[in-house]
Amino acid sequence: MERIRENLYLLFKGNEKNCNVFALKGKDTVLIDCGIPEFYKEIIGNMEFFNLPYPSFILITHCHFDHSLSAYIFEKNGSKIIAHEKTAEALEKNTYMVWPENVSAVKRTKVEMKIKGDTSLNIGGIKIDFIHTPGHTSGSSSFLAYLDGEKYLFTGDLILEGGKVGWKGSIGFDLEKLKESLEKIKKIDFDLLLPGHGKWFTKEEGKEFIEEALKNTKNPL
Ligand SMILES: [Zn+2]
Repeated sequence: MERIRENLYLLFKGNEKNCNVFALKGKDTVLIDCGIPEFYKEIIGNMEFFNLPYPSFILITHCHFDHSLSAYIFEKNGSKIIAHEKTAEALEKNTYMVWPENVSAVKRTKVEMKIKGDTSLNIGGIKIDFIHTPGHTSGSSSFLAYLDGEKYLFTGDLILEGGKVGWKGSIGFDLEKLKESLEKIKKIDFDLLLPGHGKWFTKEEGKEFIEEALKNTKNPL
């Protein structure tokens, strides 16, 4: 875990089973992705360590289990789940899209706010741009949060570790859309880029990371 900025936290550093889980502290606590139940207690413990109140909102970048499987626990405890409408469809109904190899482990989760296209909202006192960036999955989204005079760009699995892109085994994977999404986020002005796995990046590093991903669209995983 890491306090990246005054009000930006890495609550869980991703591993092979779980994604990076980030928290923003505005009027309320907002989580970006939530990981799997196995690490729920650790994430809650890390929030307590940082004196963060229980999250009022969970933003889900996309439906894959390593990003969303704990969402039902947070939802049950009062957090509002926010996701693109296609991600919401997977979490509420088409649970096979969450974890095709282990559907029985997936609990249906109510999504309070379903996002269509690109929009800007105030979530827990924080301005957040919702940017639809399909390719990895059809509902994949990036979030640009405006906090303390900086802009934090969360990209989920749009770009994988090492600047790789993929993966072809994902339901709804679309290479053409992925290229368009990369071109779209290339135009965004950000101060930090925070992917769903691996390390986070400063502005210059983040721009290189996007360029690397564009090159890697020739050889998607
Ligand atoms: Zn994924």
